[in-house]
Amino acid sequence: MRRTLLPDFVLDAYGARSGVGVIIEDGSIVAVGPATEGERLSGRALAPGFLNDHSHAFQRGLRGAVERIEPSRPRDDFWTWREQMYALAEKLTPDSIREVSRRCYEEMLSAGYTSVTEFHYVHHRPDGTPYDDAGAQAKAVAQAAEDTGIRLLLLPVAYARGGLPRFRDPSVNAFLQRVDALREWSQGRPLIEVGVAAHSVRAVPRGWLEEIARHAHRDDLPLHIHADEQPREIEECQAEHGLRPVELLAQTGFLGTRTTIIHATHAVGKELDLLSEYGASVCACPTTEGNLGDGFLPAEEILGRNLGLSVGSDSHVRIDPFEELREIETNARRLSGRRNVLVAEEETSPTPWLLRAGWGSYGREAGDPADLIEIDLSHPALADVEARNLPSALVFGAGSGVVAGTQVEGRKVHERGGTVG
Ligand SMILES: [Zn+2]
Repeated sequence: MRRTLLPDFVLDAYGARSGVGVIIEDGSIVAVGPATEGERLSGRALAPGFLNDHSHAFQRGLRGAVERIEPSRPRDDFWTWREQMYALAEKLTPDSIREVSRRCYEEMLSAGYTSVTEFHYVHHRPDGTPYDDAGAQAKAVAQAAEDTGIRLLLLPVAYARGGLPRFRDPSVNAFLQRVDALREWSQGRPLIEVGVAAHSVRAVPRGWLEEIARHAHRDDLPLHIHADEQPREIEECQAEHGLRPVELLAQTGFLGTRTTIIHATHAVGKELDLLSEYGASVCACPTTEGNLGDGFLPAEEILGRNLGLSVGSDSHVRIDPFEELREIETNARRLSGRRNVLVAEEETSPTPWLLRAGWGSYGREAGDPADLIEIDLSHPALADVEARNLPSALVFGAGSGVVAGTQVEGRKVHERGGTVG
């Protein structure tokens, strides 16, 4: 069935256009162009849905619970936080991970995310033995996505050493077999795609990185890894390999156009050059990185090399794409003492580049999936904003409260005031 949505404005990274309709058929956008008839969306702007490119859904269970010092551990940092995260991960069952993921994904839809990349590493029973169905935990997460209607890129994550027994696989072949079984299982599930990930250079040795990379490149799979999040991880990598993390990834064949480096907080120039050379991307998680005291990514250098950038809510301390984007620019301002820092060539505002990081594109066009959000133009955060300034008002002056409705493949999956199932 063909429908035309007629909002007050269609929004892209450069501005807001009136008198424009979005024509949708079979879950995809057929055309975006002049229209006068269709379903009126009064008081609404229609914008692309956001991509949440890095999520550990179960960590939503830590919200508010880790914001105090344990008297026995007066220095709190990433590593003490991780112990509390492990305690939570230890308790998960397929039922409970499905439930916490479902709630987390519902919150994402309400905030304007229409798709999520789940970096999933709680694979096995607590003692490390596989479930009868070795993919039980991953499937529970995928089913949570289907329960809510969010689009999911599921990344089974390789873990060879450290962490909890339930994260680890005995061999890289055992891990890759599970990845392939999940890919098979996901066939015919339109919202679910399966890629692959390695946890980090600290959790995965060189030989595994090589095998996983080969497997991913052979089948053109999305390939993710945490890298350069914490100084200690870099020191350990240098001690073991004589290389910084991204240098090791280049040597093991891990970098390619479908590779995404999560964080890159402490990446130095020669590492960013390697990412550029191979066409790899970076995913920033500013609210989590701020909460954990990780630091702030070299955003100006990333922009300067024209690297692909996406954002993720990672630990879900906050789920608000507007805030993730705003943090990138405002942190760059704090560090540089300047305003409008992350301005791409031939542009005059950081807004288009930031929104592109959030949406994965500058706007929606024919052929794209109809993954859209409705922006409430009567919301106090947007009152009195001129149409041409709406994109910047979203990034700099609004939060997820302006999202009035969310559609995935043209189907309403969230409406403010209640979730549409
Ligand atoms: Zn992560």
